[in-house]
Amino acid sequence: MDRCSFCGREKKDTNLLIAGISGHICDHCIEQAHNIVQEETQGESGFDINEIKLLKPREINNFLNQYVVGQETAKKYLSVAVYNHYKRLIQQTLKEGDVEIEKSNIILVGETGTGKTLLARTIARMLHVPFTIVDATVLTEAGYVGEDIESLLTRLLQAADYDVKAAEKGIVFIDEIDKIARKGDNPSITRDVSGEGVQQGLLKLLEGAVVNVPPQGGRKHPEQKMIPVNTKNILFICGGAFDGIGKKIAHRLNTKMMGFKASKDRKIIGDKDLLEHIAPQDLRAFGLIPEIIGRLPVLTYLKPLEKSALRSILTEPKNAIIKQYVKLFEMDGIELKYDENALQYIVSKAIEFGLGARGLRSICEAIMIDPMFELPSRSTKSLHLSKDFAMRKLEKINLKILKAS
Ligand code: ADP
Repeated sequence: MDRCSFCGREKKDTNLLIAGISGHICDHCIEQAHNIVQEETQGESGFDINEIKLLKPREINNFLNQYVVGQETAKKYLSVAVYNHYKRLIQQTLKEGDVEIEKSNIILVGETGTGKTLLARTIARMLHVPFTIVDATVLTEAGYVGEDIESLLTRLLQAADYDVKAAEKGIVFIDEIDKIARKGDNPSITRDVSGEGVQQGLLKLLEGAVVNVPPQGGRKHPEQKMIPVNTKNILFICGGAFDGIGKKIAHRLNTKMMGFKASKDRKIIGDKDLLEHIAPQDLRAFGLIPEIIGRLPVLTYLKPLEKSALRSILTEPKNAIIKQYVKLFEMDGIELKYDENALQYIVSKAIEFGLGARGLRSICEAIMIDPMFELPSRSTKSLHLSKDFAMRKLEKINLKILKAS
């Protein structure tokens, strides 16, 4: 008679009895053994920083160049920050008494569609530490509708497969950080649940603290057991459009240069170049609290993309939009040819409608939707994207709709 070789139960007393080479195991024993394995391995991290191959800042920069056009300053700052992040992590395993390298969280300022998220995503491709992108707009003070600050770390934990040790060395990109700026000068008139309160909460994470993180996120699972995560070594990269910050920069520059002589000598700084002069005071004028600014010591900017940059974005990055269409058609045995003036036309439309790089894809989609729908079921083996063709397709579309999207 078959019985479990572990507990001795007879087959009829089990739900399942599995046969091995020289014995059997029942479902009860499998479950118990599974629990033992889990308990024994919990807390062990498969993450070993010393196994990571350290890319030098120039190598990181070269990698970014394959995907992101322009934005040299931001790339340089990011490359150094990520490199230093790794160095800090390695240093932790060295002996005590060494100079402690402090972490340098980063803030990227630039209009939407200039490549902030793209930079973050590209960095994520080459990283060997857990990485996540979160949106600051969903955050509210504890007790209000929305997400608690701690939920930022839930995503990181998930990215690390709940390996806490790995998550504690990870990188978090917080998008739309400008949306948690204090709205008015006097925050006490109306309750500012998504403003200063959130900044205070965020400060704790940026400074480094042990935070209790809900493993599933949100507040829907009140019974879930919190996981303590230390944020001391987590690198935070923040991004925001900071609409209207140009005015604050101009204001600061002008007040500094007041007086008749100065106004005569003043170098005229164009709107486009204002961002180059961005300083922490401008973020403060925008409504970020000084403590937060102090915890984001690396401040850099992304400029609005010019015509030539938009043109390059169409074909040059490794996964450029046009390359993707070529590939899509190729898979149907169709060859896509395009004229330079068709691409120039697409760029000019993106600029005309103030859509920037984000608009390039929507405009291309509008042009390509018909051929992508029709050609696969026809015998045609080539498609010529000429300026005429692009114009005809776009005439039918109301580009204002694209702008709203
Ligand atoms: P942001 O986060 O600054 O609002 P994104 O990074 O999301 O902007 O950019 C939107 C899209 O525009 C990207 O997915 C990418 O296709 C394109 N894009 C924007 N900036 C660049 C750039 N500098 N180089 C290449 N593509 C870019």
